[in-house]
Amino acid sequence: MSRLLLLGTGTPAPLVHRAGSSYLLQTGEQTLLIDCGPGSVRRLLEAGIQTTDIDALLLTHLHYDHCVDYGYLALTRWDQGIGQVDELQVIGPAPVQHMTDRLFATDGVYGPDLAARTQHPGSHFIYECRGGAMPRTPPTPVAREVAHGDTISGSGWRLDVAEVVHVQPQLTCLAYRIETAEGETIVFGGDTAPTAALTDLSRDADVLLHMCHFINGAIEDPRLTSCCSGHLDAAHTAADAGVKTLVLVHLTEMMETPGVRERLLGEIAQIFAGQVIFSEDLLDVPLGQIATKQIR
Ligand SMILES: [Zn+2]
Repeated sequence: MSRLLLLGTGTPAPLVHRAGSSYLLQTGEQTLLIDCGPGSVRRLLEAGIQTTDIDALLLTHLHYDHCVDYGYLALTRWDQGIGQVDELQVIGPAPVQHMTDRLFATDGVYGPDLAARTQHPGSHFIYECRGGAMPRTPPTPVAREVAHGDTISGSGWRLDVAEVVHVQPQLTCLAYRIETAEGETIVFGGDTAPTAALTDLSRDADVLLHMCHFINGAIEDPRLTSCCSGHLDAAHTAADAGVKTLVLVHLTEMMETPGVRERLLGEIAQIFAGQVIFSEDLLDVPLGQIATKQIR
């Protein structure tokens, strides 16, 4: 069985207990990171996982609460990897290639840092203390832009891509369906308003991670409801797609008041009969039937 670990379950609003969107999937011999919002690299360390363990980063879209730790992840992975880890593979919508270039190119955001770390004698000393062998070369993450309908075969896993409805035309947002090397199907819905594209992508999935940005009924302004989802929207998508487990992510402070989640669960159950999980950072998501622990 593969492992699905929630690293960040929050939103752009900074919260101590919820990092920005980020999920870890370990399948076969590979470790994938889906989104890397603010604080997600720290969550990795809290989970006992090193950045050098990450093989590929999949970005659903380039809102900063989903990608701001990209630079940090790639830089510390390269720095600690001392030339002994493969380049980070990055999959995402356009313009992720441009973002990668502007971050890591010689004249990019981190160009002066990378020049110092690859050329200054003090950095050479530390690099050799870590076990690195000269010469030292800068990181060159390998970005691959994907779009609706694309399919990628990974190392034992398979990725299907669908475009969902978020903040186009300024930003494209994608959802990812991953069939793991162990045979589970997990859908990362990205940020989205209700859309048939996500329902179709989620058909019969074991797990659907779905945005739950607001409480339906409490917010009805079409400026928000046309680009984000509430709890009932997630329930309808999960029910229509026939998924087994719905994980509500991208949670706001609307759901933090005691008793509110319990009410929402009751409303969701009127629509979706499967298993429902309100997400927490560092929660391991059960990928099969959720069993009750033994009493003791
Ligand atoms: Zn977004």
